[in-house]
Amino acid sequence: MQKRFLPAALVLAVLLAMFIACGLQFSSARAAFSLASAEEERKIYLTFDDGPSTVVTGRILDILRKEDIKATFFIVSDMAKTRQETLSRIAEEGHSLGVHSASHDYARIYASDEALLSDIDECAAYIFHTTGITPRLYRFPGGGHERQKALIRERGYEIVGWNAVCGDEEIPHADADTLVKEAARTGEGKNPVILLLHDSARHRATAEALPRIIAHFREKGYVFCAL
Ligand SMILES: [Zn+2]
Repeated sequence: MQKRFLPAALVLAVLLAMFIACGLQFSSARAAFSLASAEEERKIYLTFDDGPSTVVTGRILDILRKEDIKATFFIVSDMAKTRQETLSRIAEEGHSLGVHSASHDYARIYASDEALLSDIDECAAYIFHTTGITPRLYRFPGGGHERQKALIRERGYEIVGWNAVCGDEEIPHADADTLVKEAARTGEGKNPVILLLHDSARHRATAEALPRIIAHFREKGYVFCAL
């Protein structure tokens, strides 16, 4: 009887040890899983260049408010001068503001380093004058050399590029369906997605496509952030 009891006790002890070990493994696996999901949180930044315009920027702001999303607007201050209310609204509704250009005129902006920096200063001063915000983000209107990038960073700006487009500048006369597909295609598998869109007056299709672009990335598990 005792001889039989000993192996049974051993089996029980082994089973108990295995149970505890499994439990520990399970909880550490759970910890690892939650860590992994925190690391893998997908982010998308909607960035709008070349505005503000009255109708298109207004529609975009309505959509962003309805969807409870904050975005980033790279401002052309010559456009903003006749649309001061829209520029103020962008700031009041909690979106980020960045410098794009004063004139968006390549010949003027890229005439010299001094011209480039004074274009940036002029746009930043107008954003501050209208909203009280000192912008710290910059997006080149037409790309820049390393030397120019260094000068802009010295002035305290973070230079922001993009890694996905909706095609509203790249594809001539693109309709909203095309823009939704292009945003999905170019953003596919990226994390974060920094999506380039435009909100100047001729980009009505961009505003029309925006709710479906938002829905697409939401379905893919992306969280919307401002820079
Ligand atoms: Zn531009």
